[in-house]
Amino acid sequence: MKIICIGRNYLAHVKELDNALPTEPMFFMKPDTALLPAGAPFPYPDFSKKVHYETELVLRICKTGKSIDMEAASEYYDAITVGIDFTARDLQSECKAKGHPWEIAKSFDYSAPTGEFKAICTLKHPEDISFGMKLNGSWVQQGHSRDMIFDFNTIVSYVSRFITLNPGDYIFTGTPKGVGEVHVGDKLQLFLEDEPMFEFEIK
Ligand code: ZN
Repeated sequence: MKIICIGRNYLAHVKELDNALPTEPMFFMKPDTALLPAGAPFPYPDFSKKVHYETELVLRICKTGKSIDMEAASEYYDAITVGIDFTARDLQSECKAKGHPWEIAKSFDYSAPTGEFKAICTLKHPEDISFGMKLNGSWVQQGHSRDMIFDFNTIVSYVSRFITLNPGDYIFTGTPKGVGEVHVGDKLQLFLEDEPMFEFEIK
């Protein structure tokens, strides 16, 4: 499986990092070694001094597709969860300044913890999915899918122009505002429609 991540998909987050507003979806990828085993702590990497959490809705692809039409895109994903797109922000800033790819800042081992997936048809408000994260018991990020610049169908259609999507692939759909640093000992709790999905510690 592969993990595709959309960047800059919520206006308030684009502004908080002082980035330019995208005119098309932008994406990058993480390898399957970015997954964190359920219940395991996240090991703080030794190559960064500024690891940020980004709380995101994560789609799971259910059907192989290439160059998918917007109108048909909703047939290609059927499950959703929340996850963290861990980012070594200090390395990412260096990569941006040098015009280098982002992999060392975004795609390292265990940088994509995700919860168990739920069928989208079982959600209370599939047209506007709420999600969030509590850091050490306090809300730090709360988002709504209606605030995405590019919606799920646009993302799936766009990515599949370049890369064939297969069942089991994940798509991280971008983070709302409120990103920030984690430190060793922090506890993260992730929520989908106010339901606790999973939690883990920074080790
Ligand atoms: Zn992200």
